[in-house]
Amino acid sequence: MTHPNSISLNGRDYPWPTAPVVVVCVDGSEPAYIEEAIKAGVMPFTAKMLAGGADLRADCVVPSFTNPNNLSIVTGAPPSVHGICGNFILDPDTGEEVMMNNPKYLTADTIFKAFHDAGATVAVVTAKDKLRNLLGHGLDFASGRAICFSSEIADQATMESNGIDGVVELVGKPVPSVYSADLSEFIFAAGVKLLNTRRPDLMYLSTTDYVQHKHAPGSEGANSFYAMMDGYWAQLVDMGATLAITADHGMSAKHNTGDKQPKVIYLQEVFDDWMGEGAARVILPITDPYVVHHGALGGYATVYLPDGSNVEEICAQVMALPNVETCLSNADACAKFELPNDKVGDLVIVSVKDTALGTAPARHDLTGLKEPLRSHGGISEQTVPLLFSRPVTKSTADLRLRNFDIFYMAMNDLAGTNERIAS
Ligand SMILES: [Zn+2]
Repeated sequence: MTHPNSISLNGRDYPWPTAPVVVVCVDGSEPAYIEEAIKAGVMPFTAKMLAGGADLRADCVVPSFTNPNNLSIVTGAPPSVHGICGNFILDPDTGEEVMMNNPKYLTADTIFKAFHDAGATVAVVTAKDKLRNLLGHGLDFASGRAICFSSEIADQATMESNGIDGVVELVGKPVPSVYSADLSEFIFAAGVKLLNTRRPDLMYLSTTDYVQHKHAPGSEGANSFYAMMDGYWAQLVDMGATLAITADHGMSAKHNTGDKQPKVIYLQEVFDDWMGEGAARVILPITDPYVVHHGALGGYATVYLPDGSNVEEICAQVMALPNVETCLSNADACAKFELPNDKVGDLVIVSVKDTALGTAPARHDLTGLKEPLRSHGGISEQTVPLLFSRPVTKSTADLRLRNFDIFYMAMNDLAGTNERIAS
């Protein structure tokens, strides 16, 4: 099939790949995870790969949550372009609190759709099914050149909905529990099989941060997970793929050092106290159906205020609270973090690194939290790895690299930059 030399999407030009490009998003991979695992000698392939390739750091999107960042990575653009600014939002049209995993909120095409429509073969494997709908949006599975499924319900994949069936037989592993490291291993095992049998032009493998929420960098639980990934990454590169690795966000301890209890500012209580019960509405965009490992406690909140509120005055009050890193108006937050104004409240509040934001204690089920709270969402979890199996030939010293530059950099022979990277 003939194909164009390049694809233009969301303000960038992507050359047609000459070898399979495999982008891996390791959910919640604070840079220290790989650094410590390499130091411990459990990632021998990655150590060698980085010595000959590129070992960079980049900023993720704030809110440093899974959905906004995964969508930025696969569109090459910030949330102001693709529309997804949380896992959970207040729908501006209905006033209802809703999950943001419905493609109706997506306002940009993905790199997969653009390349697929031009004749490429694409494969996307993600951990939780909640992301699959967004990542696979617009793919025509009838073409036989598009695959998109989650390891969570891999056994239910069909040709019509996923472009593939018989996944469990192909991978040779049972469907893992949604709360397990195996959920992520299944993705890599599938990636290796897909590269071997289908050789897609573009492949995206996106894990879950189950391990990172529980285990600190350098711990045994973390190192064994990273050792597992190292083995699969070696196979992908062995088969001729260009491998690029980043994270959707980092991960920080957010608990007291003494009693290990979560360290939380319960914002709905604070606002109820200031303005009367329920007058302001605190939304935590980290909220999703899988709250066992974080209890919906993250480092970022948005607040809807009653009409006529003095935003500046209230921001000053919020900033005076202990352990608040920043409080911004809608306009300032959306400009700073490149977010869609219509899906963000009147205020955006970010807590400091060791502190999480909640609504009210009764609204957070922490019974599933077996280890001291580790979570993300704020500016303190913005730095992520940006790793390539081949060297970056152009200096990136003066550039603010983003995790969503990853496809662009991986496909431009790692030599080019464009306006977005440069700006
Ligand atoms: Zn995540």
